[in-house]
Amino acid sequence: MRIVMIGTGYVGLVSGICFSDFGHDVVCVDKDASKIKRLNAGEVPIYEPGLEDLMSRNVDAGRLRFTTDLAAALKGAQAVFIAVGTPTRRGDGHADLTYVMAAADEVARAVEGPVVIVTKSTVPVGTNRKVAEVIRAANPTLDFDVASNPEFLREGAAIDDFMRPDRVVVGVQTERAGQIMADIYRPLFLREFPILVTDLESAEMIKYAANAFLATKITFINEIAALCEAVGADIKQVSRGIGLDNRIGNKFLHAGPGYGGSCFPKDTKALARIGQEHGRPMRITETVIEVNEDAKRRMIDKLRDLCGGSFNGKTVAVLGVTFKPNTDDMRDAPSLTIVPALVGGGAKVRVTDPQGRHEGEALLPGVTWCDDAYAAAKDADLLVILTEWNEFRALDLGRIAGEMATRHMADLRNIYSVDDARDAGFDAYVPVGRAAMN
Ligand code: NAD
Repeated sequence: MRIVMIGTGYVGLVSGICFSDFGHDVVCVDKDASKIKRLNAGEVPIYEPGLEDLMSRNVDAGRLRFTTDLAAALKGAQAVFIAVGTPTRRGDGHADLTYVMAAADEVARAVEGPVVIVTKSTVPVGTNRKVAEVIRAANPTLDFDVASNPEFLREGAAIDDFMRPDRVVVGVQTERAGQIMADIYRPLFLREFPILVTDLESAEMIKYAANAFLATKITFINEIAALCEAVGADIKQVSRGIGLDNRIGNKFLHAGPGYGGSCFPKDTKALARIGQEHGRPMRITETVIEVNEDAKRRMIDKLRDLCGGSFNGKTVAVLGVTFKPNTDDMRDAPSLTIVPALVGGGAKVRVTDPQGRHEGEALLPGVTWCDDAYAAAKDADLLVILTEWNEFRALDLGRIAGEMATRHMADLRNIYSVDDARDAGFDAYVPVGRAAMN
């Protein structure tokens, strides 16, 4: 199978590399010449564990190429995947489809049929039909089908998620497109991973419903955590107690500083917008969006309390700025709300992150970057754990406390406990949804 993947971001690059690993002949195309240059030099422009090795294996096998030349890439293609960004449109929360439609138009002008044009980007219900209209308008005689194939991979575990998915969702209108998609995903089908074939609208809807549900689950537990603090319950025990119920499940029940990342914030906003446009307000999702903003504000209040009511003149060490561990992605990370509040309040902020500095430097002005947690915490008045990278889970807390000016810790990921903090010599320790020491 000859596949073209448009967009070499977190989704396009992982999908393209994994498809080549299935044995398909894949050309990845991006408009960003610097990304393509790095890829052609064997370098992966994002941080995703295992991706560089998998890429080089498939490049060496002659199944995987990178180019900026879409027209050349399209020669002989049987399937073209669109995996470009769909960020929030300024002003109204709608998903910005400019990149998707531009890619569809470019493909239509250069491709020879028969071909299946597959939207992998997360797009509002009805978009695949609009993609078909754009293609028809640009090339009325082209023999093509469209397909919707939303992606569910998680950054940081993307290869495993792609290779061992809970399910693959494929929305099609024709048997011919269904057959091509089945051929593409045959290695997964043979290993009995569920492949769900639906109509276009249902496939598009599944992606938004899944992300909104997950965002709701996180937000629910964060709200329960706030109540736990007020009533003296422990969110870790509560999460375990409800998660053991199979109808609820134990995933996504970790209280923290509010969800962030490249998907949940924009997809919840887009779903809310879709609901408004169709006269069916998504009231739960709208509330989730609001409560999540409150969760981030609540974290800032916690930090301010730990600083004695004002950040002014305090030195705050922040461990982790990416929206979750094992990625360099900073899009909508809680750090982008919390760190500016610290800086704006007059704190000297020292940050460290195993992979976030490259992206974070431009996004977090006014902070000092440190090589590790120990350097960040030296002489600080407050230690804030914001992202639960493995290397922050096993810190020598005694050494850290010993070098701080004021021994206060805010553990916004609940990776330590009051006992850990007390044993290490901290004078104050504030987690999320659990008993604090202060
Ligand atoms: P990204 O911003 O990392 O990458 C998009 C890439 O597309 C960029 O490299 C950009 O240069 C390229 N591009 C844009 N227009 C182009 C064009 N016309 N021709 C060639 N290249 C073009 O985005 P991402 O995080 O990979 O997300 C892509 C889509 O997948 C989004 O709709 C997103 O919602 C969805 N998604 C993302 C994730 C995730 O974890 N990041 C997971 C599931 C779904």
